[in-house]
Amino acid sequence: MSSSTSSPSPPSDACAALAARIGVADASLLRDEGFIADAWTRAELGDGGGATFDVVNPATGETLVSVAKLGAAETRAAIDAAAAALPSWSATTAIVRAQALRRWGDLVNAHASDLARIMCAEQGAFCCTLVPTRPRRRGERRSLRTFPGASLRPHLAFNPRPRRLSTPTDAFQLHPDVRGLGKPLAEARGEVAYASSFIDWFADEGRRTYGEVIPTHDANARVFALRQPIGVCAAITPWNFPLAMITRKAAAALAAGCVVVVKPSEETPLSALALAELAARAGIPRGVLGFVMGDANAIGEAMTGSEIVRKLSFTGSTAVGKKLMRDCAGTVKRTSMELGGCAPFLVFQDANIDEAVKGAMGSKFRNAGQTCVSSQRYIVHEDVIDEFGAKFAAAARKLVVGDGLRGKTDQGPLINARALAKVEAHVADALSKGAKVLCGGHRVTENGCDKGVFYAPTVLANVPRDASLFREEVFGPVAALTSFADERDAIALANDTTAGLAAYVYTNDNARVWRVSEKLEYGMVGANTGVVSAASAPFGGVKESGTGREGGKHGIEEYLEVKHLSVGGVGR
Ligand code: NAP
Repeated sequence: MSSSTSSPSPPSDACAALAARIGVADASLLRDEGFIADAWTRAELGDGGGATFDVVNPATGETLVSVAKLGAAETRAAIDAAAAALPSWSATTAIVRAQALRRWGDLVNAHASDLARIMCAEQGAFCCTLVPTRPRRRGERRSLRTFPGASLRPHLAFNPRPRRLSTPTDAFQLHPDVRGLGKPLAEARGEVAYASSFIDWFADEGRRTYGEVIPTHDANARVFALRQPIGVCAAITPWNFPLAMITRKAAAALAAGCVVVVKPSEETPLSALALAELAARAGIPRGVLGFVMGDANAIGEAMTGSEIVRKLSFTGSTAVGKKLMRDCAGTVKRTSMELGGCAPFLVFQDANIDEAVKGAMGSKFRNAGQTCVSSQRYIVHEDVIDEFGAKFAAAARKLVVGDGLRGKTDQGPLINARALAKVEAHVADALSKGAKVLCGGHRVTENGCDKGVFYAPTVLANVPRDASLFREEVFGPVAALTSFADERDAIALANDTTAGLAAYVYTNDNARVWRVSEKLEYGMVGANTGVVSAASAPFGGVKESGTGREGGKHGIEEYLEVKHLSVGGVGR
């Protein structure tokens, strides 16, 4: 199987124009077609018939580019291409597969800046123009970056290091048509690093998929357990981590010797397609990694109904996960389900409250609260709830929503109007049941946020336990506080949900850390930390938050079958 690296193919005119607009230096990373059998593909094969869909910047409502809308026929073609690639990819050594993965990971790192910009654009990014207020003075340095294709006006799009501008602040002002603010670039860059960490991790893990020699039951036989790649896999991923949710699956699958067809979210196909372009450049062979996007239902049914696909890995909402599990039953596929959460955050009376607030801030407001491990239900001991609530609200109030130009955008928009409506409904429900606003509780429309879907960082106190915020995932920047008096009550309340993804505990009592962590019905527990994810650790939920684990040494097991081999007639 050839694994030579390849040079970039030119982007479409629309993608080249978008690259100039959003400041992506390597325009070939922007693609508007699916990637099937090593070729960029439009919907000519059947159902789509050349259809496209628009990718929209949720900060501005602006259409970034139209992308090929693929369907069942293209998905089947990608599956067939993957099946054709499987025999030789699974037969290559783990070392060769690791080398290909490393080249991919290196390219992801090398293009971190462009990938972050693409991610910002489709998840909602600041795209603005600065206009000079006066002529340049003698000797004055203006270091605003001008991107190719931008107007002659100094143009600052997704400025990666706003604080390092040496331009005098009175030399420019925002152009009056400044539109939209977005996901902070620092967060996007963090996700690029997070995404490449999975490629790096699984490149190594692929070399450690050991089998076993089992003490024999028959002196004339020898018994073994072999670990073999499952085969053709399908992956369906969400928009909230548009790179990492793909690499966490695809890198594990490829390292194990499997081949994969990925369906990214229609909200964020551009990040996914940039990964496809880099995989091609890295020499991942034809058909090993395919990308189709468009009609989610048709693509999903082509994947789940296929007898060729032996495994489906899904990250997304619990409702869609349940449907896909049902659909996979028809062909008895293996599934991994990384579904929604509704994370409790327990603060005991002996906790370091400042540390707890720090942990709460990170876990709550990252990605505007749109992470599956985002804490939501703050269960705080009655002796410290007032102090915790006041400090948490004070910190949340300081978050800057929007304005990336000030170099201090802490929180960007929600992904779309539906997400905003959901957040507003949860807050209204809590308020109608007696909750009190400590901060936020409203949409943000100032500072150029009027065209986007922004919601203020929100902390609500006295939230009754029958409020929807204590039952369902809000997926937005809203924290709901309630008090407890007794450890058992706190644990019972934390477990009183169908979700079981992540939970957090703050206490300075070491015995309590163990006692409470063991009783929490969650796949992941952060004790005195608001962060529970790393490439080296297993990630996943229990109950309706899913099945299977990604990351860590467990992540690759999801793509391996265990085969029992008995060799008879060996003699004594
Ligand atoms: P979603 O609506 O379930 O979408 C996830 C993916 O499923 C998208 O690619 C979507 O495609 C696709 N999809 C939707 N309906 C489908 C169908 N009928 N058949 C096949 N595919 C279908 O979830 P989301 O809004 O993107 O993501 C947010 C959810 O994901 C939250 O609940 C969050 O907690 C969860 N999540 C979980 C984890 C984890 O590791 N546990 C990580 C991140 C997010 P389109 O976008 O093209 O419609």
